[in-house]
Amino acid sequence: MARTLADLYDLQCDPALREQLTYTSPSSGTSVGLSFLQPRSVDNLIRKRGMYKHWANYSGGMLGRTPDYLNAILAGCASAKSYFAKNGAEYAERIVAYYEHCREQDLCATHTFVDPQINRARSQSEQRDPTVPLHIVGENAQGLIVSGARMLATLAPYSDELYVFPSPSRTQQSDAPKFAFAFAVPVATPGLKFICRESLDSGGAPSDYPLTARFEEMDAVAVFHEVVVPWERVFLKGDISLCNRLFRETPAFLHGIHQFTVKNLAKAEFILGVATLVAEAIGRIEMAEYQRMLGEIVDVVETLRAYIRSAEADAITDEHGFVHPNPNIMSTARNYFPKAYPRIVEILQLIGSSGLMATPSEKDLTAPALSEDIDRYYQSATLMGKERVQLFRLAWDLSCSAFAGRRVLYERFFAGDPFLLMASRFTSYDRSEAVARVKKMLGRSA
Ligand SMILES: Cc1cc2nc3c(=O)[nH]c(=O)nc-3n(C[C@H](O)[C@H](O)[C@H](O)COP(=O)(O)OP(=O)(O)OC[C@H]3O[C@@H](n4cnc5c(N)ncnc54)[C@H](O)[C@@H]3O)c2cc1C
Repeated sequence: MARTLADLYDLQCDPALREQLTYTSPSSGTSVGLSFLQPRSVDNLIRKRGMYKHWANYSGGMLGRTPDYLNAILAGCASAKSYFAKNGAEYAERIVAYYEHCREQDLCATHTFVDPQINRARSQSEQRDPTVPLHIVGENAQGLIVSGARMLATLAPYSDELYVFPSPSRTQQSDAPKFAFAFAVPVATPGLKFICRESLDSGGAPSDYPLTARFEEMDAVAVFHEVVVPWERVFLKGDISLCNRLFRETPAFLHGIHQFTVKNLAKAEFILGVATLVAEAIGRIEMAEYQRMLGEIVDVVETLRAYIRSAEADAITDEHGFVHPNPNIMSTARNYFPKAYPRIVEILQLIGSSGLMATPSEKDLTAPALSEDIDRYYQSATLMGKERVQLFRLAWDLSCSAFAGRRVLYERFFAGDPFLLMASRFTSYDRSEAVARVKKMLGRSA
């Protein structure tokens, strides 16, 4: 995974890709990552999309957390500095300075929103032990002092920085002094630990685990023991309402959705490619039922492409002249993929069926005693035994392995609670015109 991340950063240094992946920093005049660009035109948005896609294609969309995701969100936060200024003028200055620092150093970040899953029926202060969720314990001349835990920082072991965004838990007004904050710290900060889940990469041959071996991005719980957050890194404090509305009322997260919808497109295209080759390999590509299932994947690909392009075409311009992908379309795209992804993985399982288990390891493939058997008994309509095993091991890592299971869980949840997000789609949607038209037909007044 470290090698993979290094490769992505190296692409930015390739002179042939410089124009596609970087832009000129307005402060230093050097080339910086394009995901940090604050768009001022639809063309800027389209240019950013090209950068996202280039990185996403590198992993077949298998990496949820290439650094461009948080770069785009941080750039969006800095363009919404007037929102942070509502907490005090110094907060606006800090978010802009921090954004510029990350942009100039090209820092890699992880982030955390969610309090530990203790008792979801209660707010932070109502927990049996209210010191478990991350909270403010004090302050000194250097900064804010925080303790407690947060879930679930993906990419933490490979990151330079941790962004701690406001928690969406049921924070109450009376809890503001303890639980209302947004800040960032270097991951190598005294008192901060990351407790990782077990690695899915057992260190086996990369050919046995073609995706796991390269794209195991890791997830970790962040534990803070009296961590001092320097004041210049505290972006919101003490105002529950500002914290709760941060991603509803600023365009910051829209840029994150733009990035990951492009990543989702790369991922759906990759699954389409693998599923097509598997169907061909077993001689079912002409079968109507297989074509119908493959057609479902095509529709996912084209739906994602349509979301991206229409969000760019119907972009909005804010009062500072910054351009953001269309909020309505981006919200729908965000709610779409958690349902679409498990289905296209299921299709790959249905297409591959038992062949996904006829997958001997590299050790077997290279064993002289098995070489002839594998070429003979594993052959397919289009491939000889060893090539077939190579393809099916990829399909297995994409649809059945622990890596595949984690990816499905990731797509279901990483962008927030799908249940609440879907409900808020309705509650925050302007449906007045639709309702008025029905009332008119019924002969009722508005
Ligand atoms: C692989 C993975 C990586 C992640 N990486 C990150 C990361 O890097 N940074 C980060 O901040 N977060 C990350 N997350 C966490 C993600 O933000 C949360 O999973 C998400 O916000 C949902 O919260 P939760 O998991 O605590 O679910 P909970 O809030 O505990 O909910 C549990 C279940 O209950 C459902 N539910 C909730 N309310 C209702 C209701 N009223 N009626 C019926 N059902 C309901 C939910 O939909 C969900 O299915 C990651 C998650 C995963 C799985």
